[in-house]
Amino acid sequence: MDWQERFPGVSAEEWRDWRWQQRAALSSLDDFARLLRLTGEEREGFARTAGAFRVGATPYYASLADPVHPDCPVRRQLIPLPAEAEDGPGDRGDPTGEEPHRPVRAVVQKYPDRALLLATDRCAAYCRHCTRRRITGGEGNGLDREALTEAVDWLRDHPGVREVIVSGGDPLVLADERLEEILAAVRAIPHVRILRLATRAPVTNPFRVTVPLARLLRRFAPLYAVTHFNHPKELAPEAREACERLVDHGVPVENQSVLLRRINSSARVLVELNERLLEWRVRPYYLHQGDLARGTGHLRTPLRAGVELLAAMRGRTSGLAIPNLAVDLPGGEGKVTLAPDYVESREAGGTWLRGPRGGRAFYPDPAEADTGCPYDEVWFAGR
Ligand SMILES: *Cc1c(COP(=O)(O)O)cnc(C)c1O
Repeated sequence: MDWQERFPGVSAEEWRDWRWQQRAALSSLDDFARLLRLTGEEREGFARTAGAFRVGATPYYASLADPVHPDCPVRRQLIPLPAEAEDGPGDRGDPTGEEPHRPVRAVVQKYPDRALLLATDRCAAYCRHCTRRRITGGEGNGLDREALTEAVDWLRDHPGVREVIVSGGDPLVLADERLEEILAAVRAIPHVRILRLATRAPVTNPFRVTVPLARLLRRFAPLYAVTHFNHPKELAPEAREACERLVDHGVPVENQSVLLRRINSSARVLVELNERLLEWRVRPYYLHQGDLARGTGHLRTPLRAGVELLAAMRGRTSGLAIPNLAVDLPGGEGKVTLAPDYVESREAGGTWLRGPRGGRAFYPDPAEADTGCPYDEVWFAGR
């Protein structure tokens, strides 16, 4: 069923207007009930989580949802279940310990060289698995103009920061003028070499990626767009147009998925998702283990599941299509990556390894083990 049947009376012009998509966002049980045949469990989910975390989506993203099947991956990212009212083991308000690393309201800095700039607390769709729901929840954390000015001043005073990740919320809910103001202010800081723009707009409101926006972003190069596709059901032609438009204009696009239990926790799905993204010239970057955000326990997998999925992908698909499995440690220690362990044993003279098809091989140590690079002294002299 296409959108015209599901949203009668909406013109094609309105549908392709990103502002109309934001204005017409669905947010209540009644809004979703007009589009989807909601189950009793989903209705109970609305009731039990009322006021806990925003529900909402653009008509575009909601139209990707299966109207009848409750296991639909888009539906499961949008509609709360009663389990969301329960905390899973270890759930907490600040799952990755960002608050102690928030020197000013709109900055999170956990690594000496990178900082997040929280540009807004709003999104075009509210993911049930949101890690920053304490901010996007809209509980008066408003990231106003003053907070942004304070953030830019802070970044200017911290010369160790080489890379700024403009995030939120979703910075692409902002108008071009406001976005340009923020990017220009950060770009004007000489020590900030790289910009990253973290946005789910290609997934949730692809019409946001207009030609003027793509040109605007290109002016701030090197700027990497990082988006968030979780399932091939989200790979609609409109999404492809948005991603390819960015790439065509010189804005590289990376993807970060979140590993979601019973939604994309399958090697078949992850292979299809990442292979197709690669065809769109979108590079798979991270597969995130679910953070311990309140009410998201039912969406998380055990840690070993992600490692097993990566092992199932290795050897079966292009290395370019395999993301890094990232775990953001509870408590604020930062992100680490997990990978299948192919080392079987180490012995004097070398290492026994397991291959992706299960065979074994011995890799001998070379005669010399010194790995220092003598030319470093020359190359780095005076740098
Ligand atoms: C994930 C994250 C980053 C970026 O980490 P990369 O591994 O460089 O992608 C930076 N700051 C914070 C606080 C983060 O959570």
